[in-house]
Amino acid sequence: MTIQLPETVQKIISILESHGFEAYTVGGSVRDSLLGRTPKDWDLTTNAKPEEIKSLFRRTIDTGIEHGTVTVRMGGESYEVTTYRLDGKYLDGRHPEEVTFTADLKEDLRRRDFTINAMAYNDRAGLVDLFGGQEDLKAGLIRAVGEPMERFTEDALRILRAVRFSARFGFEIEEKTAFAAKALSGRLSLISVERIREELMKTLESNHPDYVAKLAEFGALDLFYDEYAAKQDEINALLLKLPAEGVLRLTAFLGKSGKDLVHSYTVAERVLNYLKFDNDTKNSVLHVIRFSGVTLSTDRKLLRRFLNACGKENYENVLLFLEKSGDLDLTPVREVIRDILDAGECTTLKELAVSGKDLIGLGMMPGKKMGEVLMELLREVLEDPEKNTREYLLERGKILGGK
Ligand code: ATP
Ligand code: MG
Repeated sequence: MTIQLPETVQKIISILESHGFEAYTVGGSVRDSLLGRTPKDWDLTTNAKPEEIKSLFRRTIDTGIEHGTVTVRMGGESYEVTTYRLDGKYLDGRHPEEVTFTADLKEDLRRRDFTINAMAYNDRAGLVDLFGGQEDLKAGLIRAVGEPMERFTEDALRILRAVRFSARFGFEIEEKTAFAAKALSGRLSLISVERIREELMKTLESNHPDYVAKLAEFGALDLFYDEYAAKQDEINALLLKLPAEGVLRLTAFLGKSGKDLVHSYTVAERVLNYLKFDNDTKNSVLHVIRFSGVTLSTDRKLLRRFLNACGKENYENVLLFLEKSGDLDLTPVREVIRDILDAGECTTLKELAVSGKDLIGLGMMPGKKMGEVLMELLREVLEDPEKNTREYLLERGKILGGK
């Protein structure tokens, strides 16, 4: 069994070896190589201590030095080189109490989450697979290393990681591992929402977004989204139709759970807040949900009003969402919208041929009344784009403003 290591990885390994240390590529890189996928990054594990690693390479960064991780910069890339370690007791169900370095690769592999993630490789030793990782890869199984009840008690995030990897590869979760996940999902309350959010998003953005159903099955959504279960068939069907883009998948996951649109919106907002999503994501998702009940035709006036209400930067997501959840083909609508935009027809206050300044020039006072006049002018222009001229709008402004 050989894995074709990139030149820089080989170089890092041989530098360490030539100074009497062991070094292997480990975890995701080995797993992905065996699956015939290109690894995203090449993590390394070694019995050299952080200070020793640092002394052997010119450019290093102390990324996770307290966990024994040094980032080595080489050939314009970063490589995480981590000292073999044991994780001490996990008293809080999240973090090991202490991290102890070890001289034994086996100990380092034993602390890892799943058999498919617990293999190491270098050209000298070949594949080091102590827990049947290769076999599980072939069988398509996510299996905890060691006793699953213990491993999920140590760190409940692993429950979500099991689902995430299962969704990425279309793998089953091995029976005892799944049993433990179900039994211990309550311990997710010990895990930070940021880490939960990250695993959830990776599951949603995977090739099998419908595997979120496993999260529900394990009780891992109980904490923040128990509305999902009752609607999971509809939600999953929609998830599978949407491209693997975060906002869209998240909108599908959250936007259909209620008894009506308002209810769904409220639930989605609650979950987004609970998981501390950033404002951009929150706004984008809620925006699409807000418009998920509209009916569109190719009527130009209607579509100008739609663009005004929805915003040019959001309309494409809304169309896609409407198409996939309603089984529609909105290509004709899309074409008319393109035409409106290409023609430069006004759909926002900003594009109106007159501004507040112009109205002040007519002698109006800034304030509520002026805002209403501008809105009325926009309404007229959305009806008839020909009216978007200074001449016409100043005239109308005078009349509407009572001047
Ligand atoms: P990805 O391609 O998504 O990065 P990965 O396998 O590299 O997948 P990481 O989260 O980057 O996953 O973690 C790197 C490795 O560290 C894993 O392969 C696993 O061996 C180990 N690991 C990460 N998180 C945990 C955890 N919570 N418990 C035990 N081992 C873990
Ligand atoms: Mg990784």
